[in-house]
Amino acid sequence: MENLALNGHATVETKAKKLTKITVAPGDGIGPEIMKATLKVMQAAGAEFQPDYIEVGESVYESGNSAGIGAEAWEKIRKNKILLKAPITTPQGKGYKSLNVTIRKSLGLFANVRPSKSYFPFIDTKHPALDIVVIRENEEDLYAGIEHQQTEDVVQCLKLITRPGCERIVRYAFEYARAHGRRKVTCLVKDNIMKMTDGLFHRVFDEIGQEYPQIEQETQIIDIGTARVANQPDQYDVVVLPNLYGDILSDVVAEITGSVGLAGSANIGMECSMFEAVHGSAPDIAGKNVANPSGLINAAAMMLAHIGQTKVAERISNAWMKTIEDGIHTADIYIKGRSLYKVGTQEFAEAIVGRMGQKPESFAPVELSSMSDMTVKIQKYQRKETKKELVGVDVFLDWKGDDPQILGEDLIGMRPEGLKLKMITNRGVKVFPNGMPETFCTDHWRCRFVSVDADINYDHLDYTPASYIHVVSLLLQLHRLGYEVIKTENLYRFDGVRSFSLGQGE
Ligand code: NAD
Repeated sequence: MENLALNGHATVETKAKKLTKITVAPGDGIGPEIMKATLKVMQAAGAEFQPDYIEVGESVYESGNSAGIGAEAWEKIRKNKILLKAPITTPQGKGYKSLNVTIRKSLGLFANVRPSKSYFPFIDTKHPALDIVVIRENEEDLYAGIEHQQTEDVVQCLKLITRPGCERIVRYAFEYARAHGRRKVTCLVKDNIMKMTDGLFHRVFDEIGQEYPQIEQETQIIDIGTARVANQPDQYDVVVLPNLYGDILSDVVAEITGSVGLAGSANIGMECSMFEAVHGSAPDIAGKNVANPSGLINAAAMMLAHIGQTKVAERISNAWMKTIEDGIHTADIYIKGRSLYKVGTQEFAEAIVGRMGQKPESFAPVELSSMSDMTVKIQKYQRKETKKELVGVDVFLDWKGDDPQILGEDLIGMRPEGLKLKMITNRGVKVFPNGMPETFCTDHWRCRFVSVDADINYDHLDYTPASYIHVVSLLLQLHRLGYEVIKTENLYRFDGVRSFSLGQGE
């Protein structure tokens, strides 16, 4: 078993006590204001830590570093293992990479845990019973960030979903549910369309779910699932989902509790972990002392519980709830007649400090279990042996013609060795043979060549598989005929099963 928790975070000895070193990134936009408020609350609660500051984000991007983070910051993050990060602004365009995504992926922070809860009637919401933990896969999916322009007309982004990635996050979700006494885990995917990628996530959910019969489990399609989460959130408990859907859903859930400014999140990996608010750097309200620091304060409480300072975390959570109950609210959650005082970011933090040691009266006080450290035991990934056969190849061409019949007949006339043209698609729709004249075509053509004796469904077991030599000589032949090959995708069967999607209409 591997232990997916912090593995010996850095500490520093003072005369009085041993302090945990925490890397602190004050961030951009509202970041420095909410970080100042959060550190004030942590100090007042008696957190035993020493902040180790790093500069990342906008200023580093602007200095010419397109990653937004320098070597010294990386060193501190990796050494201290625990990072408290305020939001970072990702400059639009210009090839800058999102620092948040880079940190999550580089450090292997595969689980993004985002709890959201309603605090009705003190914070207005249409959903008083909402109490959902979104567990978002954090490293894969479209956030692999592999994008290319292939022709004048077409750009692509690769959606990568892996079996080890699915296994880790799904097991994490079930283990989290078990450890935190949650009754149900819901998986949200779009496998009616993406049968292979989202299909794998769904399949792994079903496989691993069998090991947790005591936990209710269901899978829904992400579109109706999101609509229902927004309309009937009390039907949901723990929700596990791939990266992009999780990014969107966790903002929806945080917002419908009353404000996106409320929710904190934990990014958990094998070695390191990062704690942050769910929301972004809110440049529209930066520097005005109006931002709600609750998201980062709640994230800091999760962090303190994670590193074993559970009593301190409890004190913060209880004082925070008492402040909310006492009607002391920042502008985003202030409602005339219901709230008592509209306060700024720092005043809100001071109100929490003033209530340190108190417990809420209307809400159940927080009592953290020993599992608050987010530790989850995960079995090491075991790759199964499979039989992999090459069935054919999809060759993508940049072709400026507009009649697929001309292209198809030319490619059939090539008579490549060992392969035959099966079909041509444009944006995934079959346009040759027997395409429809109404189908709009771009300059991006996927030409599917299969082994000469493959049957129509690729499932016939006794034909001769394609060979790489045939693929390579096909590419050479196309090049010599003046075609521009943009890329190829080999077509495989794994254990005799077709392992690529059919073209629409194939
Ligand atoms: P955002 O979350 O920053 O803001 C969305 C809306 O919510 C804005 O109206 C903002 O004023 C409000 N809001 C957000 N946090 C609030 C708070 N604590 N209190 C009160 N109101 C709050 O989203 P955005 O505008 O799409 O993104 C702004 C920047 O943040 C972008 O550069 C984006 O890339 C970045 N971002 C960073 C992170 C991160 O660091 N983890 C996450 C999301 C977005």
